[in-house]
Amino acid sequence: QWIMGIETSCDETAVAIIKNGREMAANVVASQIESHKRFGGVVPEIASRHHVEQITIVLEEALNQAGITYSDLSAIAVTEGPGLVGALLIGVNAAKAIAFAHGIPLVGVHHIAGHIYANRLVAEMKFPLLSLVVSGGHTELVYMEEHGHFEVIGETRDDAAGEAYDKVARTLSLPYPGGPHIDRLAHEGEPSINLPRAWLEEGSYDFSFSGLKSAVINTVHNAEQRGEKIVPEDLAASFQQSVIDVLVTKTGRAMDEYKVKQLLLAGGVAANKGLRAALEDKFANNPGIELIIPPLSLCTDNAAMIAAAGSILFEKGIHSGLDLNANPGLDIAIHNDK
Ligand code: ATP
Ligand code: MG
Ligand code: FE
Repeated sequence: QWIMGIETSCDETAVAIIKNGREMAANVVASQIESHKRFGGVVPEIASRHHVEQITIVLEEALNQAGITYSDLSAIAVTEGPGLVGALLIGVNAAKAIAFAHGIPLVGVHHIAGHIYANRLVAEMKFPLLSLVVSGGHTELVYMEEHGHFEVIGETRDDAAGEAYDKVARTLSLPYPGGPHIDRLAHEGEPSINLPRAWLEEGSYDFSFSGLKSAVINTVHNAEQRGEKIVPEDLAASFQQSVIDVLVTKTGRAMDEYKVKQLLLAGGVAANKGLRAALEDKFANNPGIELIIPPLSLCTDNAAMIAAAGSILFEKGIHSGLDLNANPGLDIAIHNDK
């Protein structure tokens, strides 16, 4: 079984080919970061244009890497949402054209289902499991009782974790995307600055990072007004500590309540060294619970994760019609009741 995955929801044009659900035969990612950097964030119109320019090149490269042709494919999986509508449309239309021209089944995949399934390329998934999804647009705890079934038990009420990282980085005049820069600074500083942690109501698995972000911005501005200097390394370390405390504590509570066998880390912020270390500290030696953390290249946007999720849906007999459309506000529950 060969499954091709296509991902164009944001600023990466990505195509991958997976053999038998778990073996990576090709994984090509064309990043646009350099084009968006000078604007301090992703510019949707520029993203769409780059996807149009890159998609056929990336498709060819993936086929070459895997050493196969379109006629070898069992199915073609594509991110149908959520994301930027113009960006999503390029991937969806490329996938539909290939599916139609070569008579290959089409499978629409939710981007976050993809981030979670990046873990299937690392280890066999064992249910029930919990996934901590931390990305540029999402911060969620997702409970899975079986393949292809997603229950969001908690989510952010304002900023996503990655969004908070990027905004804090901007306050410290670090380049976009700021997550990796804050991560690096944090390791050179001490978490000596007092910053809030949003626990929300007792028992809630929801998150909130906008208060923390504002506290960081106020700390910087207040210091500037008083003519004092803050140590960016210490501020980064304090911010990162606050994010990690909340993420790890709530995840631990959910794991106890839902009695899961595995914890899967997912999304771009899963690349964070501090978060990875904190989770390993707390859960790696916990008998009965397996902690899975994907390699960095599978944490940020890629198409291997879309192919991995698509392969499971395909095996369950779930296909999309050629009327598949990009859906920027797609809900992960679309995968559930099929
Ligand atoms: P979504 O998946 O929610 O649609 P997205 O696809 O834009 O959003 P990802 O590509 O999954 O997001 O992740 C990008 C985010 O990850 C950015 O906010 C970036 O700053 C953050 N990030 C990447 N590496 C690190 C790191 N080492 N530490 C913290 N954040 C990081
Ligand atoms: Mg990206
Ligand atoms: Fe993503």
